[in-house]
Amino acid sequence: MVLKIGVIGTGAIGKDHIHRITNTLNGGEIIAVTDVNPEQAEAVVETENLNAEIFKDGHALIQSPNVDAVVVTSWGPTHEEFVLASIAAGKPVFCEKPLATTAEGCKRIVDAEVESGKQLVTVGFMRRYDQGYRALKKTIKENQIGTPLMLHCAHRNQNAPAFHGDMPITDSFVHEIDILRWLLQDDYVSVQVIQPRRTRFANDGMQDSYMILLETKEGIRIDAEVFVNCQYGYDVQCQVVGDTGIANLPEPASVVVRKDAKLSSDILTDWKPRFIDAYDVEIQEWIDATLKGEMNGPSAWDGYVVSVTVDACLEAKNSEKIIPIDLPECPSFYREAKVEV
Ligand code: NAP
Repeated sequence: MVLKIGVIGTGAIGKDHIHRITNTLNGGEIIAVTDVNPEQAEAVVETENLNAEIFKDGHALIQSPNVDAVVVTSWGPTHEEFVLASIAAGKPVFCEKPLATTAEGCKRIVDAEVESGKQLVTVGFMRRYDQGYRALKKTIKENQIGTPLMLHCAHRNQNAPAFHGDMPITDSFVHEIDILRWLLQDDYVSVQVIQPRRTRFANDGMQDSYMILLETKEGIRIDAEVFVNCQYGYDVQCQVVGDTGIANLPEPASVVVRKDAKLSSDILTDWKPRFIDAYDVEIQEWIDATLKGEMNGPSAWDGYVVSVTVDACLEAKNSEKIIPIDLPECPSFYREAKVEV
């Protein structure tokens, strides 16, 4: 059986997902595409040699009886309307982050999904599919380092020429927010955002770097550095300190060279190669689960929690205060989901 997929937004990540579904993964076929730039949609149909209809807009694509499931990879502010329309049409939808650009928008999606009575939404937090993060979670779950007490994390980009304003938090740190609560199976209760001396490599008006301190319900303390112009490479670090041991996120595989009295290995310079395998696993697991009528990836509730936490981070940054994070109780609809990825 093949899942007939319609893709809304054929920009960078939309093209990547179309390519992997068409050439690398099993069980999915792109049969519909749309983009606000029709030439861009036409170009991907030609490049990937797709047998796909080009729709005038996302709503027409969602309504098509030929489309079984929807992938939303358009510009962030359009996500909410396309996810809500997919829910209204009763179609499974994979939405790239953000689920919506406001916490209220995410809550509207949560409410609509709960009201529909069927879990249909998966959010593209791809780190949950990374082998290293999965191994780290297994280590914690198997109690190999005892009870987690503290986490030391870093998200570093070599440079971020297109970043401005709060993007280090809204576009980069969002991944840390999702992955750390998933790793710990815990929620955040407060956040503090510290702004160290600013790097001279940051774009005008943008703070870079940040030190973000989170506290969880269980009392775990997290310090996370976000530094998007670090110059030396793309580097994601996570160390979990437990009461009987310490576990580190594995480094990406890289040959270690001993030469000229030096020990060296390469560091990646871009996020794509760092997480390319995770993207493949993410979309393959979404196709497999959707074909079985299941939904087990990051949920609309997860998208909502991330959005509430981002808002608290921004308030903490602007006020320079410790800001509490108040979440309503997770609806049983999500707690009872069959498999948690
Ligand atoms: P992009 O290259 O700008 O692609 C977005 C595409 O959607 C563009 O072609 C855009 O057209 C089009 N679009 C805008 N409004 C639309 C609408 N109403 N209907 C159909 N198409 C529309 O951006 P991207 O880098 O692919 O990012 C897309 C989304 O994926 C963003 O939300 C981003 O945060 C997310 N993303 C996630 C990851 C991850 O690691 N999970 C990585 C990359 C991106 P215009 O260019 O004319 O606006």
